Amino acid sequence: MTLPNYQYSKEFAREMDKKDPLRKFKDRFIFPKVGGREAIYFCGNSLGLQPKAVKEYVQKELVQWGDKAVDGHFDGEQPWFNVHERAKKALAHIIGAREHEVVAMNSLTCNLHQLMVSFYQPTGERFKIITEAGAFPSDMYMLESQVNFHGFSPEEAIIELSPRDGEHTLRTKDIIDAIEKNANDLALVMMSGLQYYTGQVFDMQQITQAGHRAGAMVGFDLAHAAGNVLLHLHDWEVDFASWCSYKYLNSGPGNVSGIFVHEKYADQPGLKRFAGWWGHVEEERFQMEKGFKPMYGADGWQVSNGNVLGMAAHQASLDIFYEANIHQLRKKSELLTGYLDFLIREIGGQNGVLEIITPKELDQRGCQLSLLVHKGGKAVFDELYQHGIVGDWRNPNVIRIAPTPLYNSFEEVFRFAEILNQSLDKFA
Ligand SMILES: *Cc1c(COP(=O)(O)O)cnc(C)c1O
Repeated sequence: MTLPNYQYSKEFAREMDKKDPLRKFKDRFIFPKVGGREAIYFCGNSLGLQPKAVKEYVQKELVQWGDKAVDGHFDGEQPWFNVHERAKKALAHIIGAREHEVVAMNSLTCNLHQLMVSFYQPTGERFKIITEAGAFPSDMYMLESQVNFHGFSPEEAIIELSPRDGEHTLRTKDIIDAIEKNANDLALVMMSGLQYYTGQVFDMQQITQAGHRAGAMVGFDLAHAAGNVLLHLHDWEVDFASWCSYKYLNSGPGNVSGIFVHEKYADQPGLKRFAGWWGHVEEERFQMEKGFKPMYGADGWQVSNGNVLGMAAHQASLDIFYEANIHQLRKKSELLTGYLDFLIREIGGQNGVLEIITPKELDQRGCQLSLLVHKGGKAVFDELYQHGIVGDWRNPNVIRIAPTPLYNSFEEVFRFAEILNQSLDKFA
């Protein structure tokens, strides 16, 4: 897509909103108040807003629990026994997968550990993991503890890739080179799909191909990618992935995660895994006998029975995503973040006060822009908050702003720019 000729004016922003086919979705969400007025919420990368429909979806399950109690597992309109199946259609759409390749379960870091059991099986020769430097802390701890568990030290086993001197983001070529250089002892490439701090989207297809050429497995943490950028995990032949549902997927704090396991592992009962009864073939699940037989596909990685109340909130949001369509959402997202990019460069680019570290290329970024604030720092951010803008501050001097296509408007982006401009005048 080529971006339009943007203009620094409220009229232009309003015109964009008028033309936006997704504008009606804003009304499906509940907006928080900051200082007594409705916030401009650019923090969906941390916790997405609550869809109004959540109450109704959860209430339905509360009624089923009240009315039927234990019979709710097999009775009623939507028996809990199959609760994990509801999310598949929308998740497959969002992630770019077949329905049997995805399942909603557990929480993100727990799922990564589960998946490592199957996809990180180091040997004396092949034990190294490539990841990005500065990964989200939970992912670093996950990798360290996995490596330790297998008797290796993180120093020898984990290779962290950093940007070149003077650059903020990784070059695909450098990632590929590192994979090729370590081809002899590489067991796994495990990175984020979209880097939470810089906002960079990695070239997951090329990385997967390079990893496979090197004889390694390839997995992605899609916490910041799911529901934000277009993914084609099946076609890219990614081995495994996991994400959380409470960021762009708007499913509520700490709510259920999801996993992807590529079809090529769907029917490999011999693949190592840590099992539980919910991953056991459905027809025999209640026979309560010895001898684990995994279900076909990602379902075979389930451990426990699903959290029905959490899944209900998740579904309220997934139904909105399915209706809005991820391709439409991404189209708007490119326009919306493109506008944010344009406005920031207009007000803070020339004099060097603001620097956008997120790549400018559309295929290398999602909705989030990460701004380095060279002057004024936290005071600039606090001023934004005083004016009702919810973004996020990362020490020492980064503001992350994530306008989402489901519930943000062009006018809000314009309003943000105006307040940022005032705030820079005051503090920078
Ligand atoms: C948000 C996030 C997490 C959070 O992990 P939980 O297990 O859901 O608490 C982990 N990794 C990344 C990359 C994240 O962005």
